[in-house]
Amino acid sequence: MKHHITCIPGDGIGPEVVAATKQILDAAVPGITWEEAHAGASVFKRGIPSGVPEETIASIARTRCVLKGPLETPVGFGEKSANVTLRKLFETYANIRPVREFPGVTTPFSGRGIDLVVVRENVEDLYAGIEHMQTPGVAQCLKLISRKGCEKVIRVGFELARAEGRKKVHCATKANIMKMTEGFMKRTFEEIAREYPDIQAEHIIVDNCAHQLVKKPEQFEVIITTNMNGDILSDLTSGLIGGLGFAPSANIGQGIAIFEAVHGSAPKYAGKDLANPTAMILSGALMLRHLGEIEAARLVENAVLATLEAGQSVPRDVPGVKSPVGTSAYARAVIANFGKAPTRFPARQYQPMKLPVPRPDIAAVVATSRKTLGFDVFVEAAVPAKQVGETLTQLAPLAGLKLKMVSNRGTQVFPSKGAETDCVDQWRCRLMATAEAPGPAKLAVLLDAIEQAGWRWMHIEKLEEINGAPGFTRAQGED
Ligand code: NAP
Repeated sequence: MKHHITCIPGDGIGPEVVAATKQILDAAVPGITWEEAHAGASVFKRGIPSGVPEETIASIARTRCVLKGPLETPVGFGEKSANVTLRKLFETYANIRPVREFPGVTTPFSGRGIDLVVVRENVEDLYAGIEHMQTPGVAQCLKLISRKGCEKVIRVGFELARAEGRKKVHCATKANIMKMTEGFMKRTFEEIAREYPDIQAEHIIVDNCAHQLVKKPEQFEVIITTNMNGDILSDLTSGLIGGLGFAPSANIGQGIAIFEAVHGSAPKYAGKDLANPTAMILSGALMLRHLGEIEAARLVENAVLATLEAGQSVPRDVPGVKSPVGTSAYARAVIANFGKAPTRFPARQYQPMKLPVPRPDIAAVVATSRKTLGFDVFVEAAVPAKQVGETLTQLAPLAGLKLKMVSNRGTQVFPSKGAETDCVDQWRCRLMATAEAPGPAKLAVLLDAIEQAGWRWMHIEKLEEINGAPGFTRAQGED
């Protein structure tokens, strides 16, 4: 057998779009062995909280290549996303989401020649999924961005641009507001861009990127971005070319890859033969290309494009279609069009992508100098800001510290700057060392005193100077 693939049919419309895709891929490349595995809703129902059973993990570890249908995730409560779990378990650090104008799929953007790829960091950021209730009324989610994670996804973005003959790469971040986290992506991008002088590299603030994508989408070729930004921008880019039914994706890791549509399980269409399998089929074409089946990938892509252009046997979400066909009839039409190519917008000419091997020395970034300057102590207290400030001013010397300021959700409220902050019961108290920074024993004395005052502390953050620069940001209004 030529290729051994783990196939996860998924939830909702998943089994239908995956079956259509398998049928097409089998017709294009004889000799694929499919190993069926499960994840998502059916697995949660078996009482497995991760939604990913051991046998599925074992299958993926064996085959290193997955075709996956969408998996349902309960919204706002309940179990974590099995999708995210799969991406993280196998460290598929880059999510490649191409969109292009399709012949026969008329949108307000038709004729502009949209053809771009969102390259989304896939495992870090808010998707680290580290959340805590700070107080019963204040929730927190940690946004974790690593130098290593940035460097890996940025290199994939530039290598993809080269493989696809693209000339321009953007990096979209919110570095103007989140200078340490989103700023890390921007700074790393600017550094790595110097290794790719043949490609024009440009940073863009993510909100303007969303604006520009709607105003002038044809200016973009590759957009590298952080996880949360990429999630939102890539649904937007799907909307530009006809909707989620048309948007494929590849999750790329080291020697492992998971191919899936951008869309979810669209439960209202489940079991009705109504879903558009194009996104899944094109994800299958990305998989063929990943497996080195460049010609077969082109055959499938061109057949999809020719079918859409002909407009006779197309799904119901193709705008303006009079007599749409179902998922399975569309798949048969695509196979019948093997060997045909569209007259407009043919499939791109691809070169195999050189997947960068991450440098082994970037897991731990060593500082040339570091010094503890103080601590941010987070406290729960249902009292006014002034009382928090005055109490901490009194208690801080117990640990050799001095209160610099108190902030509420990031805005300085003590000493008062006249801000009209509508405070909640979680306070960040910034305590600076007056001499040598205190050790854990002295800090424990302070924390004990805070509890004696009838309040509760929930976490402490070290304030460090790293390589001579502060490793923390100021509060709004803090001087
Ligand atoms: P969704 O399943 O993507 O569906 C949103 C809308 O997109 C549908 O109502 C439909 O629009 C359109 N759509 C999506 N796929 C389509 C297809 N193949 N053919 C035709 N139309 C399609 O998003 P959701 O409703 O937000 O999420 C549903 C579930 O999927 C949730 O449990 C979510 O967590 C999960 N999810 C999974 C993944 C994944 O597995 N990677 C990704 C996203 C969401 P119209 O109503 O306009 O026809």
